Amino acid sequence: MNTDKLSHRLETVAKYIPMGASFADIGSDHAYLPCYMLKKNKASFAIAGEVVDGPYQSACKQVREEGLTSFISVRKGNGLEVIEQGEVDCITIAGMGGSLIATILEQGKQKLSTVKRLVLQPNIHAYSIRLWLVENGWELIKEEIIEEDGKIYEILAAEKGLAKNPYTGNMDKGLLFGPFLMRDKNKAFQKKWSAERNNWERILKQLSLAPDSEENQTKKQELEWKINMVREVLADETNERI
Ligand code: SAM
Repeated sequence: MNTDKLSHRLETVAKYIPMGASFADIGSDHAYLPCYMLKKNKASFAIAGEVVDGPYQSACKQVREEGLTSFISVRKGNGLEVIEQGEVDCITIAGMGGSLIATILEQGKQKLSTVKRLVLQPNIHAYSIRLWLVENGWELIKEEIIEEDGKIYEILAAEKGLAKNPYTGNMDKGLLFGPFLMRDKNKAFQKKWSAERNNWERILKQLSLAPDSEENQTKKQELEWKINMVREVLADETNERI
């Protein structure tokens, strides 16, 4: 990957940044995404935010070497504290856990009032992000699930709106699987949830062999509930094909 050719994962994130937007990429590491967007004239201005010194220095170096210092501001700081209110139209946060992404959004809430779009790519726990979006009036407008180098990634794009709009039927299912993703049920989706189900079934078996306790019982019930949801969602797919 370089600033001319992004990974499929980051390219998918880039696809959802509105054309010509100003955007902040939080947790930018080498600032590949901002450099790519500016070099391809797809964005007008970008902020590359980084909390850790090493990646922050890498981002500064990359932007300097690409001759993009007039268009990309590299800033060191935690989450959304690197942006001023009204400075960007779009925020991207990619390559972190969903809970961390939700925490960053929650802690920087006041900066979001003028932001039009969020593009979020959790490596795990997309559930936490969907829940945060619903609780804070952001409507999912599109989701994708992709596989790259044997890993599966989800990409979520949201705008201010009717947060519950995309969710029809069981809300828990929608939050876990993604309302758009569970409609498509593409190959990556089926692979991810079959693997999750196998893992949960394995843990459930181990718990069944352990001495019984209230905590154990609660864990088992939660796992059974999740396994059943996966079975239902994947069985829908089989039924639809018959
Ligand atoms: N966004 C790039 C990508 O998707 O390829 C880099 C992902 S890298 C795995 C995650 C980056 O997020 C790290 O460089 C880390 O230092 C940074 N990070 C983690 N927590 C952060 C926070 N609260 N604020 C800003 N950056 C953060």
